[in-house]
Amino acid sequence: MRSLEDFQAVQELVALGHSDSEIRRLTDIPRSTIRDWRAGLGATSNRDRRDCGHNCSGDHDYAMLPSIEYCYVLGMYLGDGYINRTHRGVWRLRITCDERYPEIVSECRSALTAIMPNNRAGAWSPSSSRCVIIYMYSRHWPCYLPHHGVGRKHERRIALHPWQEAHVANAPHSFVRGLIHSDGCRTIANDRGNPSVRYHFSNRSEDIKRLFCSTLDDLGIPWTRPSNRDIAIYRKEATARLDEFVGPKK
Ligand SMILES: [Zn+2]
Repeated sequence: MRSLEDFQAVQELVALGHSDSEIRRLTDIPRSTIRDWRAGLGATSNRDRRDCGHNCSGDHDYAMLPSIEYCYVLGMYLGDGYINRTHRGVWRLRITCDERYPEIVSECRSALTAIMPNNRAGAWSPSSSRCVIIYMYSRHWPCYLPHHGVGRKHERRIALHPWQEAHVANAPHSFVRGLIHSDGCRTIANDRGNPSVRYHFSNRSEDIKRLFCSTLDDLGIPWTRPSNRDIAIYRKEATARLDEFVGPKK
């Protein structure tokens, strides 16, 4: 893995107009790495990381992540998660859960452990509230959850990277489950005397709502939008499908 200094040196030499082979000679960094950094996406995301003090080249094998657990964490994070830098380039991921749902807390901690087996997935309950905050420290949260940015999620663009889209395509159920576990609910409505299951998902970010709806589309589950902020799933066959892999919060 390359250091931040290497990356900055290459950026400067690129800006000065040097070719890849000249930079290779000047820095001893492989040409393939220089080419990737020059290519744009890598350079942009690394520059973003430098701005937020992230000392990592982002050279991870994302395909090795377990899709089911990763998509669940991604859904929970997009709903109710937050990462911030704590000290010396270490980042803390926090996901807030309702204390009434200990199984969700436990599932979230297990999924985090599956993604980063060497790091501890902790949980604490602030005495003044009825929530549980699940947390894990790592240098690599900005790599694994590259949606970090200035401002709140609904005020900035949230899009998945191609490697994340591949995981969601592998485990769409798990992504929907994570989103509903964080920002959704399952209710029983009284439909002319008959109990009827309904799912709701509510989030202020248009991008996150779009990700939720497009994943439902991929699963063939119809949805409606009863209000600006809400996505609802009402139809009997659709809620029955969701019950197969979401169900009541526990
Ligand atoms: Zn990293």
